[in-house]
Amino acid sequence: MLNIPGWKHISSGKVRDLYESESDPSKLLVVASDRISAYDFVLSTPIPDKGKILTQMSAWWFEQLNVANHVVSMDVPPEVEGRAMICERLSMVPVECVARGYLTGSGLAEYRESGMVTGIELPEGLTESSRLEPAIFTPAAKAELGEHDENVPFERVVEMVGEDVAAALRDATLMIYARAAEIALERGIILADTKFEFGVRSDGSLVLADEVLTPDSSRFWPADKWVEGQVTPSFDKQYVRDWLTSAESGWDRASGEEPPELPDEVVERTRARYIEAFELLTGQTFEP
Ligand code: ATP
Ligand code: MG
Repeated sequence: MLNIPGWKHISSGKVRDLYESESDPSKLLVVASDRISAYDFVLSTPIPDKGKILTQMSAWWFEQLNVANHVVSMDVPPEVEGRAMICERLSMVPVECVARGYLTGSGLAEYRESGMVTGIELPEGLTESSRLEPAIFTPAAKAELGEHDENVPFERVVEMVGEDVAAALRDATLMIYARAAEIALERGIILADTKFEFGVRSDGSLVLADEVLTPDSSRFWPADKWVEGQVTPSFDKQYVRDWLTSAESGWDRASGEEPPELPDEVVERTRARYIEAFELLTGQTFEP
């Protein structure tokens, strides 16, 4: 962990490290590392600048979206310049608020099994990458470190947080998704799905927190590559996933063992994909 004067390390997730202000514990420093996770493992090889790219993308989105959020300032200690935000400390709601506008991944798997995703009945005949109109709210209960988040029906969210908060989470998630998907599409990017986390202020109001609309929390697809019925390669970990599951890596996903180190070429290509997503979306040039 970094030694940052004035800040005390309090926890680390797969990707980010949280510090609390020594003078004002209601402020958090959220630092995005260059760690990358795949198949529920944090890989031993970092992707240089990933934390900066994702922090800046998230900051850009917070500015575009006209919703209450946890950002206090981007003016952070020099040790973490560009890769951190000072945020309001919130009581986090333990629900991953997922919006899906296209069917893929765990949503598609559930649909194929039951015709539903988190209890929401969908029309027959949908397939890989089908568009969902309207988009749906498919919450997941946050899992303990190292475990997989579990898709749950809306009723389960009601049991967890009460009817009013559950409805507010759903409505905010779908509203923000719609707005973000529109912005992304203007730039040739489909926002297939995304995950938000909300927190509660001491006055009870709900605030958009965590990171937002980054490749780690969302599936971004190049719009011109989308074909219903086919897997669309995302703007993110595709090289990493493809390489890990290729014979070349020598890694057996079913073994439960740590994945091997990534070759330089996979690191470089992945970094380039993150930068490409940032630049396409924001129209800015990424400066390391
Ligand atoms: P998990 O999210 O399950 O804890 P993770 O590996 O996804 O694990 P990271 O995303 O790396 O964790 O770390 C970010 C952590 O900070 C998350 O636990 C998130 O809920 C929390 N967090 C984000 N914003 C705030 C906030 N404003 N106040 C308090 N906690 C926050
Ligand atoms: Mg997280």
